[in-house]
Amino acid sequence: MSDTVGEGKLEVKQASKEVKESENVAEKYSAMTVSKNSELNMGELSSAFSAVPTHKPVKKVRLQRSRQEFSSSPTKAGRRSLSRSISQSSTDSYSSAASYTDSSDDETSPREKTQVNSNGSTDFCVKNIKQAEFGRREIEIAEQDMSALLSLRKRAQSEKPLAGAKIVGCTHITAQTAVLIETLVALGAQCRWTACNIYSTQNEVAAALSETGVAVFAWKGESEDDFWWCIDRCVNTEGWQPNMILDDGGDLTHWMYKKYPNVFKKIRGIVEESVTGVHRLYQLSKAGKLCVPAINVNDSVTKQKFDNLYCCRESILDGLKRTTDVMFGGKQVVICGYGEVGKGCCAALKALGAVVYVTEIDPICALQACMDGFRVVKLNEIIRLVDVIITCTGNKNVVTRDQLDRMKNGSIVCNMGHSNTEIDVASLRTPELTWERVRSQVDHIIWPDGKRVILLAEGRLLNLSCSTVPTFVLSITATTQALALIELYNAPEGRYNQDVYLLPKKMDEYVASLHLATFDAHLTELTDEQAKYLGLNKNGPFKPNYYRYKASKSFLCKI
Ligand code: NAD
Repeated sequence: MSDTVGEGKLEVKQASKEVKESENVAEKYSAMTVSKNSELNMGELSSAFSAVPTHKPVKKVRLQRSRQEFSSSPTKAGRRSLSRSISQSSTDSYSSAASYTDSSDDETSPREKTQVNSNGSTDFCVKNIKQAEFGRREIEIAEQDMSALLSLRKRAQSEKPLAGAKIVGCTHITAQTAVLIETLVALGAQCRWTACNIYSTQNEVAAALSETGVAVFAWKGESEDDFWWCIDRCVNTEGWQPNMILDDGGDLTHWMYKKYPNVFKKIRGIVEESVTGVHRLYQLSKAGKLCVPAINVNDSVTKQKFDNLYCCRESILDGLKRTTDVMFGGKQVVICGYGEVGKGCCAALKALGAVVYVTEIDPICALQACMDGFRVVKLNEIIRLVDVIITCTGNKNVVTRDQLDRMKNGSIVCNMGHSNTEIDVASLRTPELTWERVRSQVDHIIWPDGKRVILLAEGRLLNLSCSTVPTFVLSITATTQALALIELYNAPEGRYNQDVYLLPKKMDEYVASLHLATFDAHLTELTDEQAKYLGLNKNGPFKPNYYRYKASKSFLCKI
């Protein structure tokens, strides 16, 4: 999951470069797949993989950095000694799938324990290696809804397109990520992994990965000092040097740039998942400091359209229901922002029979909202009426203290957009208002006259804080990440420069086609005549790069 870097977003997109579609591995996959409706055969796959240059062994470079700079247990001094604070996304809470280990009584820091897996390895640091079996079950459950990623694993397993790849990863460590990591291992990679968020690790999943030999350094509830220590332990190990990076948020990349710049001599590429991380990469690129190619997964169609729209359409309700028990039929709900996330939230609440209003600054999105049957209003016009406000803009101070003062008793306010900037939560921390924690992630803010406003997740992303994210959506993102890694790792010299690239359209189409099998969907093939008429290759890409795949009216009406 990721968040938007407000103004930077436009710049990011404009600076993006498209990978030349005629040359990459993805095209070979796509050509095979789209025409066959996701049914690759191994002969074709084999030729796709053998068409890329074989990997040359990487000379090992020993990292010099001493581990001693970290305090053995987190202290204030330790935190201060860090040169920069962890990113916002690293501290936004993220409630992963049901964890067996959240209520562990063991307060000992994992850093102070020596643990051994059943193969005798101590090269990991997790909460409790004995939880591995529970984690394995979580991974198996996730696999059930990640069949596209598993089919990629199965089909490419014999070719090992990642043989020799040494991937250092920094992502949420959940059952779904474990399926990705184990796919990368099955395709030949060695992986060392750490968490991009101090709260999101599923301890038992981290244990299960460590048990199978993946060096994982992560646990739920790390301190800031732990966070950087874990990143460092991932990168700084004797006899092993990464040659690929998979990052979510840019903290790992930043750390490596700062502490181990020499390692980049051997790095073949970076795959970055989040808006925040992508923004940082573009900043490096702009400053002429990006020294390896990077693929921006965040702006791929399969990420934007599925993660932002469909994922939010489902998880908004999950988050609201888990925290409030409120019936939304007939409730007056205002959604601030009618972008991808806003469209998903509007559709979900409309489906429950809520009366939905939209606020927008952009006339095009506002017109879309009108055409989709929503009243477009200014927040001030309806603030006294509404039962629920949901912000989805990526902007700041969209709901101000003045507006919160005018909301009615019992109204709910929450955020689905970037970090915790959209609702002016800080303005509610004043002496005249009382905060009452009524449940985990639910605060009643009480005004002197007894009025209560219900604030969810302290204004942080509701779904990441209070619900789970559908595995299927994560399968789409994980498949995209796996293909981006394969592409960068196998790319011949000169295909990519030291720049940030968008995924080629064909790779997006390939990821989508792999997931169609889940629905037993059957693609129509263009006839030669039709292909000629439209000026398309029968195997795709089927849309120009500027095509937006906007939510259609039928998508909203069917709900
Ligand atoms: P988007 O750019 O498509 O949509 C945002 C919309 O908000 C735009 O149409 C913009 O015109 C509008 N807007 C901006 N300021 C406004 C204001 N003051 N009042 C009303 N409208 C305003 O972006 P998106 O893909 O919909 O993402 C929105 C936010 O949600 C981002 O911060 C993104 O990082 C975040 N996000 C959250 C999740 C999640 O799981 N919760 C998933 C993906 C993205």
